[in-house]
Amino acid sequence: MLAVDEDQVLADLRALAGFGKFDTGVHRPAFSEADLAAREWLRQRMQAAGLDGVIDGIGNVYGRAPGAERTVLLGSHTDTVPNGGWLDGALGVIFGLEVVRAWRRARPDNVIGVDLISFADEEGTWLSCLGSRSFCGALTDAELTGVRTRTGERLLDRLAHAGLANRAMVRLDLKRHGAYLEAHIEQGPRLVSDAVDIGVVTGIVGLRRHVVFFRGRADHAGTTPMGTRRDAASALFVFATTLADRLREAGGPDSVWNYGIVAVRPGAANVVPGEAELTVEFRDLSPTIIERMDAAFHATVGASDGAFGVAVSTTSDGSLEPTAMDKGLMGAFAAAAAEAGASHICMPSGAGHDAMILARHIPAAMMFVPSIDGRSHDISEDTHEDDIRQGLRIFAGAAGRILEELTPTNGRAAVSSGERERAP
Ligand SMILES: [Zn+2]
Repeated sequence: MLAVDEDQVLADLRALAGFGKFDTGVHRPAFSEADLAAREWLRQRMQAAGLDGVIDGIGNVYGRAPGAERTVLLGSHTDTVPNGGWLDGALGVIFGLEVVRAWRRARPDNVIGVDLISFADEEGTWLSCLGSRSFCGALTDAELTGVRTRTGERLLDRLAHAGLANRAMVRLDLKRHGAYLEAHIEQGPRLVSDAVDIGVVTGIVGLRRHVVFFRGRADHAGTTPMGTRRDAASALFVFATTLADRLREAGGPDSVWNYGIVAVRPGAANVVPGEAELTVEFRDLSPTIIERMDAAFHATVGASDGAFGVAVSTTSDGSLEPTAMDKGLMGAFAAAAAEAGASHICMPSGAGHDAMILARHIPAAMMFVPSIDGRSHDISEDTHEDDIRQGLRIFAGAAGRILEELTPTNGRAAVSSGERERAP
């Protein structure tokens, strides 16, 4: 088991939380001054740990182990949502930093090494998983040129302003990077409510997002008899409750759905709404269940069209396929937990993470530590110090196991079965 310095990790986490500190949390949206300052701080910490640290042309902070021929890549992200929590992705980056130091202490000059990365803009201030997409070559120049904030600012202009334009991009190297491991806070209540020490992530859920349009007729709300109204809002509410029943029938025990945006037009108290709009999103780890929920969604749209004299139509607003984690790497987390005398459960991640981008190219796995009250993406986000310490020991234990199995020449870590966790 790799010997880690738990106090150093807590000190690094607290130092990082000083960048963009906001009350008990941090405000460090991608490419804000606080984010850029935190990135430079991290680069220097990488240098101090013996890595060659660079910030690339998209803002990824990458620490390359000099002299290593094959590596395990560790990382996560250090950007946050507005007024976010102090741990979120920072935890995984600092855990990784300590594993780098511990491995270099234990095995100096080894041809097997640890590389570390903090991906840019995982949170999607500009584009979700921007840095990991770029790293994996999954971001075209045309896509990059088109990225803007909601206020219309171009990402390319911000990158230039930050002095990152024209810098080389760091890329995933299939000959070098044998596996990707990411630690993260759970961001949900399951570990705490089940009183379990860590979560071994089975996969990252897929999602479907649709916008549903309701077109009726605007009328005077005082003079139009109820029987003759073509009320788009009433049609929307009936649709939403019906769809929830259909999704519950079609979904599995871990399925979730959400109505995140509701709009009613013209939006006056004395006008029967002539138009309404609803954004629906649903998620599950199983491709089969996602497809079943999607079919139930479209059937509900079809059955609702024309009711109340309201036309119902829909357009897709994006989708993500479920991503399974590598079974062999998951096993290393489970074994490290057992060795540390800790309990674990296998669980899907309902939130997106950089690991889902990496998992399309190399064996990848994730580990969760408990979040107090399941809180996250808010300044109230926190994890008990004992859970951080234990999580670190388990993460380092798993990384150590995987590093021991990695050879300079083989295509992947021997501990990686090459087999993905099968969706339920
Ligand atoms: Zn995160």
